[in-house]
Parts: sequence; structure tokens; C-alpha cells
Amino acid sequence: MTELKDLPLRADLVGRKPYGAPQLAVSVALNVNENTHRIPEEVAVDIVSRLAAAVLEVNRYPDREFTGLRSALAKYIGRGVVPEQVWAANGSNEVLQHIFQAFGGPGRSAMGFTPTYSMYPLISEGTGTAYVPIARGPRFELTPDLVAGAISEHKPNIIMLCSPNNPTGTPLSLECIDAAYEAANAYGGIVVVDEAYAEFAHDTSVTAINLLDGRPNLLVSRTMSKAFAFAGARVGYLLADPAVIDALRLVRLPYHLSAFTQAAAEGALAHSDALLANVDDIRVQRDRIVDELREMGLDVYDSDSNFVLFGGLEDNDAVWKALLERDVLIRNVGIPGTLRVTAGTVSETTAFLNAMREVLPAK
Ligand code: PMP
Repeated sequence: MTELKDLPLRADLVGRKPYGAPQLAVSVALNVNENTHRIPEEVAVDIVSRLAAAVLEVNRYPDREFTGLRSALAKYIGRGVVPEQVWAANGSNEVLQHIFQAFGGPGRSAMGFTPTYSMYPLISEGTGTAYVPIARGPRFELTPDLVAGAISEHKPNIIMLCSPNNPTGTPLSLECIDAAYEAANAYGGIVVVDEAYAEFAHDTSVTAINLLDGRPNLLVSRTMSKAFAFAGARVGYLLADPAVIDALRLVRLPYHLSAFTQAAAEGALAHSDALLANVDDIRVQRDRIVDELREMGLDVYDSDSNFVLFGGLEDNDAVWKALLERDVLIRNVGIPGTLRVTAGTVSETTAFLNAMREVLPAK
């Protein structure tokens, strides 16, 4: 039997591990920061009718410029953003890959602030871009000095700022983003702010989108996977200067967004109020998790996203397994003594918290 090691693989990929959050059949799956609410039935019905219309024309390639989707995304974002500033792809992962293909590559480098989203080094390596990890400060926070200092020292071509940060939930101030931009602008670096979880923030008015004007090297990436409960459809997007969008056109595959993806996403955006209605409930469950885990004596990190990182566990792996035995799947993100849980529906969150009370040693 042929094994990976027998293949003439690119040398820089040898020994690498693929992205691999466990996909297990459990009753309460709170491990990959999905929105665990199903989309409302009236929205599903509208999307199906749009898909039915699209199937009748599926003999033709889809609109390569996804004009309708870009307009709908610009409208949803508001804040003066115009369709020429919008890009979209199959999940924000693909958006990030486009950025790395256009602005990274062999002989270039990217920087991330660890612990952070595990796909940054993978996309970096996949595009032959060197990855420079910089450790975050106490309680995983970033300061303008820390960020600007690291950028000025290493001069990476791409700087990844995750806001709020996955897997820690840590908010990022606009001062940090501005300091990163100033430091990167001194030599022409690109600053990417990944706002995958932006809609779950305590204050949603704090967004890097407000900084786009006059900053052509600032890119803000977002996704419909989380707040819109649309992870299975694979739609992520980017807001940036129109010149950046032109750069991404150079690397995307022709017709990368299928007619079905475009139709489904436009349908979802036409019902954004109904889809986003659950965001408030998720925020309530997120804050409940923070409060109740603190009451259990755990060390819980502040979160602006739909998940919570908590520490103070003597044996995090044993707790993870004990929860799984109770049909509750959460995530060990590899930070010693911690686990990460996604805020689910009321009943899923209750199931998780009850399981935690059973699993933790009595005080
Ligand atoms: N950025 C961050 C910080 C994420 O956590 C995720 C998904 N877990 C993504 C991007 C990618 O999401 P998607 O490709 O579904 O848009």
C-alpha cells in the first residue's frame, strides 16, 4: 500500500499535519464554534426556491464577479462600504488563501500572534510563505507596543490579527490595529484583521471596517459561517480597497463561487434579520458560560466571540474525555490546562454546564 511518505511530495510539506478538529457523532457538539441553531424555516424555503431557479441555468458558468452577492454583502455591512470593496470565496479560509497567494509566497513571510487560529500557519505553509509566530502577552492580550514592535523587527509581508481571537476569545482594540498598520505601512506590509466572530462582540461598533478609509493595505475578513449559521454553505468575504480586490482576482480560480453558493448566500442575506436573531441568544449563553464556569472556580478568559476558553484544569485531557463520555464534545486547543467550548442553544449549554459540574472534582 502506498503511504504519504512514498510520494514525491513538496519537501516543505513533509511531516505536516492537516487541519483536523474531530467530527464525532455526539448529542451536544460544541467543538468548532459553529452556530448550533438551525436556520429558520421561512429562510430555508426561500433559499430552496432560489436554488431551484439556479439549477435551471446550471449549464452556464456562474457570474464570475458574483455581482449580486457583492452588492448584498456591501448592503449588509453598511458603513459606506461599496460593492467594489467586497470579495467573497468558499469560506473565509479561501479568502485568506487568496490573500496569501497574492501577497505571500516563496521568499515572503507572514506573522501571527499565538495562540491564534490554527489555519494561519497551514495556509501560510501551503502557499510557501514563511510563518513567524509571536507570543501574546499576559492573558493572551495584545498591546500596540507588542504588535508594532514585532512587525517592525520582522517586517512580515502579511500580518494576521484575529479579532476577537480564536481560540482565546480575546478582543482586539482599534489602537492595536492602527499601531500594526503604521508599523507595516513603513515598509509596505499587508494587515489582515480576521473578524470571523465580529457579530458576537459586546460592542459591535468596534470594527476594523471603520479604519478602512485611507488605509489601502488594511484587509478585513469576515464569514457567514458563524453569525449567519451558514457554515455548511461555505461563504466568507473580505472588505478592502478596490485595488486589493483586483489583486485577488489574479489568483482565484475562474468561477470559484458556484451558482448555488451565490444563490444561497444572497437568499440568506435577504433574511439577515431573521438569521441574526439568534446572535443575541448566543451572546447570553456565552456570558452564562463565563459566569457559571467562574462560579465553579475555573479561570475563564473574557470572550467577545461565540466560544469561551477556560483554564485552571489539572488534567484538561481527562476532563475533555469525561465530557465526551457524557455525549458532550468540546475542544482541546493545545493550551495547557485549558479547554474551549462553543456557546450553544440553551439546552446544549445547560447540558455542557451540568456535565462540567459532574466532572470537576468536588471542592
Ligand atoms: N477565521 C477564524 C478565526 C475562524 O475561527 C474560522 C473558522 N473556525 C475561520 C476564519 C474560517 O471560517 P470559514 O472558512 O468557515 O469562513
